[in-house]
Amino acid sequence: MRFPSKHAVIVVLLWAFAPLAWFLMWRDKKYHSWFPKLLWINGIIFGVIFITQSFMAIPRLNTVYDALHIHVPSYVHPTAILLVLLFLAGQILVGQLLQQKLNRKKGDAQKHFADKLVFPIIIIFALDGILGIITGLLTTLTPAALLQPAVKHFFSLPTPPAIISVVPTTPPVLPLYPSPTPVKTQKPLSFSEMNSKYGPCTRLPTLMYHHIEDLTLAKKLGQSGLAVSPAYFDSQMNYLATHGYQTIDPQKLVSFFQSGAAISAKSVLISFDDGYDDFYTNAYPTLKKYNLKSILFLPTGLVGNPGYLTWSEIEEMHASGLVLFANHTWSHKPMNAKDAEVEMEITTADRELSEHGLNNPKIFAYPYGTVGQFAQTLLKNLGYKAAFTTHSGSVLCTQMSLTLPRVRIGNEPLSGYGF
Ligand SMILES: [Zn+2]
Repeated sequence: MRFPSKHAVIVVLLWAFAPLAWFLMWRDKKYHSWFPKLLWINGIIFGVIFITQSFMAIPRLNTVYDALHIHVPSYVHPTAILLVLLFLAGQILVGQLLQQKLNRKKGDAQKHFADKLVFPIIIIFALDGILGIITGLLTTLTPAALLQPAVKHFFSLPTPPAIISVVPTTPPVLPLYPSPTPVKTQKPLSFSEMNSKYGPCTRLPTLMYHHIEDLTLAKKLGQSGLAVSPAYFDSQMNYLATHGYQTIDPQKLVSFFQSGAAISAKSVLISFDDGYDDFYTNAYPTLKKYNLKSILFLPTGLVGNPGYLTWSEIEEMHASGLVLFANHTWSHKPMNAKDAEVEMEITTADRELSEHGLNNPKIFAYPYGTVGQFAQTLLKNLGYKAAFTTHSGSVLCTQMSLTLPRVRIGNEPLSGYGF
């Protein structure tokens, strides 16, 4: 667990400190006549804190707990909240009644009555303290950074960047989904079954990445589900390089589809989606270090925007021969949009890539993994030889060359993904 935010610590101290302060006051008898009032104030203050801390936080918390597979404690159940609020309202009422009773008494009788209140009130404060600490721990103590993606997801999606120069109308708004963890491969169809159904097929795992960036920053930016840390990325690339894997030229996949030219065992493709600037700063240096090839799926209309690659960076990386820049539409539009839009998106990106001497061989990736029949036909007509989805799998079949699966990689060792 990460260290809690300063705000959270203050709130928890407030919860715990108030009963403590009242306890200290109890030790001096001259304050005893204040107790009914304190009970009253206590009910209001803690009521407000409880509502803001717990009640308001529930939808957000549930998202966080779901993501972390934590069982949500029953006390945040609406009934439990109602009971706590009734308890606090009861305090206000009792405080009010006691105050009235106290006001009616005079002199020694008043003092005597106030002394009798001490014990029950201390019990109530102690209960408040315990309640407060538990609430605090379970709500605001939840790291703020952890809450942030959930909050963003709950209330709004990430703000799309402004567009420079040529203007795509819909820049990517990436869905927030949890970072993938390795799972045992489920095989509805065996390789030979796939081969006879959609073949010829080849086993060619295509790693899928989005952001390579510091995970703390990713959390801050609401990109946790799409980010692999530079250190993890380095160790994953190191694993490929030291375990006999080779990144093949994407042309070899095209040749396999066209003529069945065999792809050697332990071949992989590495793909990056969306053309974020962290590819240039965090991924490309590592790929160069291990001399690994990759495919970068680029929404061409977003090039040059804040957070995205620039054409000069793209040209520099293209010149290295290590990166193939490929079509990912113009503005990262889902491919189940209207035909005219799909056509504009694919053909514009196709043209812009060609204008920069890129896009050879022609390979495509569907934004958000949205496959559409019109898009497939269009891609075929434009000479695209392969198109990747976000479906999970490592077997690439000729008859499915325009709906190819990939392997989504998160912050886990590659051995966990079957490498
Ligand atoms: Zn994308």
